[in-house]
Amino acid sequence: MNQIQEVINKLLEKYRSLESGRPASYIPELAKANPKDFSIAVVTAEGEVYKAGDHTRPFSMQSTSKPFSYGMILEDFGRDFIHAKVGVEPTGEAFNSIVELEKHTNRPFNPMINSGAIVVSGLIKGETLQERQINVLARFSKYLTHDMMVDEKIYLSEKNTAHRNRSIAHLLRHFGVFDSDIEATLDIYFKQCSIMVNTVDLAMMAATLANGGKQPITGEIALKKDYVGDMLSLMFTCGMYDSSGEWAYSVGIPAKSGVSGAIFGVVPGKLGIAVYSPPIDEKGNSIRGLEVFKDLSRELNLSIFR
Ligand code: GLU
Repeated sequence: MNQIQEVINKLLEKYRSLESGRPASYIPELAKANPKDFSIAVVTAEGEVYKAGDHTRPFSMQSTSKPFSYGMILEDFGRDFIHAKVGVEPTGEAFNSIVELEKHTNRPFNPMINSGAIVVSGLIKGETLQERQINVLARFSKYLTHDMMVDEKIYLSEKNTAHRNRSIAHLLRHFGVFDSDIEATLDIYFKQCSIMVNTVDLAMMAATLANGGKQPITGEIALKKDYVGDMLSLMFTCGMYDSSGEWAYSVGIPAKSGVSGAIFGVVPGKLGIAVYSPPIDEKGNSIRGLEVFKDLSRELNLSIFR
C-alpha cells in the first residue's frame, strides 16, 4: 500500500479513541455534530486522493473559508487596497477577540481572525446578498470539480446568535474600517462560513494551493499564482488561532482551522491535507486534528523547514 494511505489509516485508528473536547456550541447548529465523526484526506498536487474515515460527511467551512475569501479579494482589489484596511500581524488573541481593535490601530490585525475576515467578506462583489453568495460559491468551487452550497440552517443559526461578531462589526464601522451596511456585511460573512465541504473537498482545495493555485484535475486557475504566497504566509503566521506559534513549531506547514472541527494544511508543491473531527479545544482547534497533523508532519517529513 502507498505510504500516505498507510499512515492516514494508522492515524485514524490511533486517534479515534481520543475523546477530549466538545463540538462548538456558541453556534447552536454546530453543537449537533457527532463527536465521533473523524476523517483524514490527503490530495497530492497532481490530484491523487487518499482518504480514511467518514470522508463524505459534510461540514461547514467556518474559518477554513477565510484564506479563500482573502484570496478572492486579493484578486479583485489587489494587495494595497485590502491591506490598507486589514494588517498582516498575528494577534496572539482569540479568533473572535475584540480587544486588539480597541487597543491598537483600530484596524483588524489580519484576515484570518473574525474582525479581518468580516472586513474581507464585506468586499465580496454583488448588489444583493444572493448575488454575493453566487459569486463566493462560484469562486470557491473553482478549487473543486463540482458546485458548492450554503447550509441555510447553519447560516441562520449563526446569524441569530452572532452577538460577538455583531459587536466587532459595529466597532469596525465606528472606526471607519468599512462604511457599508453592517447586517449586509455580516450576512455574507455568515454565508461564507456556512459553505459545505467534506474532508476530500477541503484537501482538494488545499491541493490546488499546493499546486500554485491551479486545480489539479480540471486545470482551471482557482487563484492567480502570484497570490498563493500571500494566502499561505498568513495561514502560516495566523491560521491556527492563538496556537499559531505552537503549530508553526510542531507541524511547520501553513494551515487554517475552523470551529466546525476542520483543519486544512498545504505543503507547497506537494500536498493538500484535511482533517475533520468536531471536538475542539478552548482555542477552537480540532483536538484530533492537531494530533493527526503533528504525527503526519513527522512521519512524512512535511515541515517546510526540514
Ligand atoms: N463563523 C464562525 C465565527 O465567526 C467562524 C469561527 C471559526 O471557525 O473560527 O464565529
